[in-house]
Amino acid sequence: MTARILDFLASRRPEGPCLVVDLDVVRDNFLTFRHALPDTRVFYAVKANPAPEILSLLAELGSCFDCASVAEIQMALAAGATADRISFGNTIKKEADIARARRLGIDLFAVDCEAEVEKIARQAPGARVFCRILCDGAGAEWPLSRKFGCEPEMAVDVLEHAHRLGLQAYGVSFHVGSQQGNTEAWDGALASSAHLFRTLAERGIQLKMVNLGGGFPTRYLKDVPATEAYARSITDAIRRHFGNAIPETIIEPGRGMVGGAGIIKAEVVLISKKQTSDDTRWVFLDIGKFGGLAETMDESIRYPIRTGRDGGDVAPCILAGPTCDSADVLYEKTPYALPLSLEIGDEVLIEGTGAYTTTYSAVAFNGFEPLRSYVI
Ligand SMILES: *Cc1c(COP(=O)(O)O)cnc(C)c1O
Repeated sequence: MTARILDFLASRRPEGPCLVVDLDVVRDNFLTFRHALPDTRVFYAVKANPAPEILSLLAELGSCFDCASVAEIQMALAAGATADRISFGNTIKKEADIARARRLGIDLFAVDCEAEVEKIARQAPGARVFCRILCDGAGAEWPLSRKFGCEPEMAVDVLEHAHRLGLQAYGVSFHVGSQQGNTEAWDGALASSAHLFRTLAERGIQLKMVNLGGGFPTRYLKDVPATEAYARSITDAIRRHFGNAIPETIIEPGRGMVGGAGIIKAEVVLISKKQTSDDTRWVFLDIGKFGGLAETMDESIRYPIRTGRDGGDVAPCILAGPTCDSADVLYEKTPYALPLSLEIGDEVLIEGTGAYTTTYSAVAFNGFEPLRSYVI
């Protein structure tokens, strides 16, 4: 909750549900990352929130950008980043998009299999590639599963294949899972990375970079460790596994950069029960899963919700969105405690919503507008 956001909402009184992002918080977060990991370059994961104001601020502060598509690359370039500060970090790319990225000057690509290496060798000869390895995502509230990455033993072959095809086998990447609560979660993947560096060195290939990915958390209902605690644990693990041959490192924070910078203002549309004797109220907001709160899927992310009536007695509620889709329920398995005095028409503030909200909102499901956003 920032005073600037509260002032903006009080003075502008924007209509309908909307996200307000405070750039001062984004700036603080960037500087905190840079200070905590001074030898590590920051590649902001654009998908977390691609608002032009956010990208321009970060470009100005010296950030680099992790992009997943040509459109994201174009947004980063438009914000003032040069091509040498942009990576194409998606392991699943159309060959035509690799060619377009190359024409835009991109020289750093993610891979996790030989077929992707071959596409890059054809369309971006000589480019640098890093191979993503699997990470189990334990300790993360939004794990990224087995969709991306390969087993470290296979990464040896993938990188060797890249080298054979004239690409620069540049490094290793992994993602420990988003909203990672365990500061030690990087240790296992760093051990595998160091092992990969040694195995490839024996075959005459000198890797240079470890991409430590994202995973840095936003504070939702539970407290999370400070960025400095993650930085200490990561730095110790790098020293432990790489000894004196410390590689170049980058991080790709998305959530940790912008999540805490945003607040969604929403409104209570209806409060009802399914039978008169029910204790649990159903509270319907004018925003739900299709309006930007997709990360409530499986009730994974529990956002802090403030109302003007906080402080009084509370009771559990099932919280739901406004659309005519039964999946549009935010919290039901674990009901959400809200004030007993809550009324239809009340405004609520949903905190920690700067990441993964605007881009997840549907274009017009049931005719609801996409989530509006103000960056201040
Ligand atoms: C989404 C993504 C990130 C950002 O992850 P956060 O947990 O939001 O920091 C970083 N790197 C890659 C490759 C991603 O896909």
